[in-house]
Amino acid sequence: MKSVEAKPQQYRSLAFFADSMHGGLARKLRIFGMDTAYSSSITDDLILRECRDQRRILLTSDKDLFKRSLNKRIGSVLLQDHSDKENMVKIFGECNIRYLPYDPASARCPTCNLELEKKERREINDELRNLIPPKSYLVYSIFYLCHRCRKIYWEGSHKAALVSLAESVNHELCRIS
Ligand SMILES: [Zn+2]
Repeated sequence: MKSVEAKPQQYRSLAFFADSMHGGLARKLRIFGMDTAYSSSITDDLILRECRDQRRILLTSDKDLFKRSLNKRIGSVLLQDHSDKENMVKIFGECNIRYLPYDPASARCPTCNLELEKKERREINDELRNLIPPKSYLVYSIFYLCHRCRKIYWEGSHKAALVSLAESVNHELCRIS
């Protein structure tokens, strides 16, 4: 059942709320720049209220919560798979998004969902440098700072897996478009 209006959507024009079962998926969506709220300790009533007030699309595997969201006319995607790839294909397919770029400059903090600030190595002060292992500081020239968590990220060993994930999601989206 499709509950999200099937009109063309621009990439990153949507906002999501992942239920407590989908913390890993929420982190992935944030890395790909999607505004994705998540809490491991929030009631269903509050999830539905936040989805309504913040115009977020609910991502859930809970059929009862999914039905409640439909009754309240809240956009919702019922996830039935366990793999991030299949779940992302389902979400983007239902939201009419046909391409997922991998662009670290648009990433959000995987921990808190805030947009990250890009920092070149020469902009890294002593406080931030203490957050980066010396070897990574030497190898990488671009870093991404979360001002809320005071965490700093860089394109490390996860890059190949993220590029590969985007490619396989896009391959599946091509097939359904
Ligand atoms: Zn953060």
